[in-house]
Amino acid sequence: MSRDTASEERTVPPAEGAGNFWSRSEKFSSQEERAYQLEMDSVRERRMTRTGVAGVVLYGAFAISDKTMVPDIYQQAWAIRFLLVIPLMLLCTFTVYKLKSLVMREIAISLAIVIGGASLPWIAGLSSHPNAMHYQTGVTLIILFGNIVVNQRFRSALWTSVILVILHGLTLSNLPLMPPHVRFNNWLFCLSAVAISLIANFRMDQDQRRAYLARAREHVRNEELSHAVELLARLSAEDALTQLANRREFDRRLGIEWGRARRENYPLALILVDVDNFKNYNDHYGHPAGDACLQQVAGVLHSVPKRSADLVARFGGEEFVALLPATSAADAVAIAEKMRQGVIDLQIPHASSQVAPGVTASFGVAALLPSDTLQPADLVAAADAALYKAKEQGRNQVVMTEQTMAMRQ
Ligand code: GH3
Ligand code: MG
Ligand code: MG
Repeated sequence: MSRDTASEERTVPPAEGAGNFWSRSEKFSSQEERAYQLEMDSVRERRMTRTGVAGVVLYGAFAISDKTMVPDIYQQAWAIRFLLVIPLMLLCTFTVYKLKSLVMREIAISLAIVIGGASLPWIAGLSSHPNAMHYQTGVTLIILFGNIVVNQRFRSALWTSVILVILHGLTLSNLPLMPPHVRFNNWLFCLSAVAISLIANFRMDQDQRRAYLARAREHVRNEELSHAVELLARLSAEDALTQLANRREFDRRLGIEWGRARRENYPLALILVDVDNFKNYNDHYGHPAGDACLQQVAGVLHSVPKRSADLVARFGGEEFVALLPATSAADAVAIAEKMRQGVIDLQIPHASSQVAPGVTASFGVAALLPSDTLQPADLVAAADAALYKAKEQGRNQVVMTEQTMAMRQ
């Protein structure tokens, strides 16, 4: 898979769990990395209230042990905890909401952890009580909290851990009362906790990346699917040559409009159009020219009716149909006349026409009020009968059915 391909263009998903443990950064392009970090950042932001409050409560709860661990300076310890560190931690949590910059948010979270961690060796350093040398073991807990619960970005987890481990080490080295091997053991304990929590942080990041990729792929698949469905719906309703609605779509719409006209009691008009002497045209100019002629005729027919409910479709071969809901017979005839004139105005030469020097068409118009005794097919049959008459009477004309004419009166 190309590394710089945008997530939208991903086609082949990497196998679940594939990839080297340490090759994390190779998996995402910079664009994907940014999108991923934005998503993770919003997850952290949402969790920040609960996580931040939990951190502050836990940190505050340890004030209980200040009286026994650093009894000589416990009031100072409380002042540091409640008047300095907790307000700073809350400020950092609040900052995450206020700042839009990803880097600044990351720094704010890391700072809250470093401030909390650093406060313990500081308090321990103020006390001369022998218990104070165990006071800073809490640093390890703060590191665990930052790496696992807050789920910092790996790089932030790494540098906050390094800072706190060094601080912890430096403080230990200033504890003369603690034997060197115990100091070393304490520090090693902290270091191990750091290593374990960093691995956990790294693994969580990998899992989150895999989940992100799976979601991105699903999104792409869904998009492709909806495009395919859209295309399919369009293709199944469209005539390939003329781009008009096809016969299937016409039948569907006729059924819908018939029902609507019946319910709302208005007439439905239909114009059947047939290009005159088109067989001769094909024979004379060839099939490809015939196709081009049909496309031009289709364009003109389509341009005449203006209402959104009107439909012009290819009925089959060189025949077209216009379905005109809520249109009177007279208006339908006027529209058919416009269409007839439009076809003439195309001035497509037709040397073998028996009618005119150019391409012409004949029009059969029917309009009726749908009722229980009538079917949609009756409307089509009526228009077809009118068209037949138009052909019989010499072509290049508009004929309305007698039934329609009777309705007009
Ligand atoms: P009339 O005036 O009586 O309608 O005569 P006509 O020649 O137009 O009618 P006929 O039904 O005899 O011929 C229709 C012709 O339309 C025959 C067929 O080859 C042609 N035709 C049908 N569909 C297409 C098409 O998609 N492309 C082309 N080029 N010709 C088509
Ligand atoms: Mg025909
Ligand atoms: Mg014809």
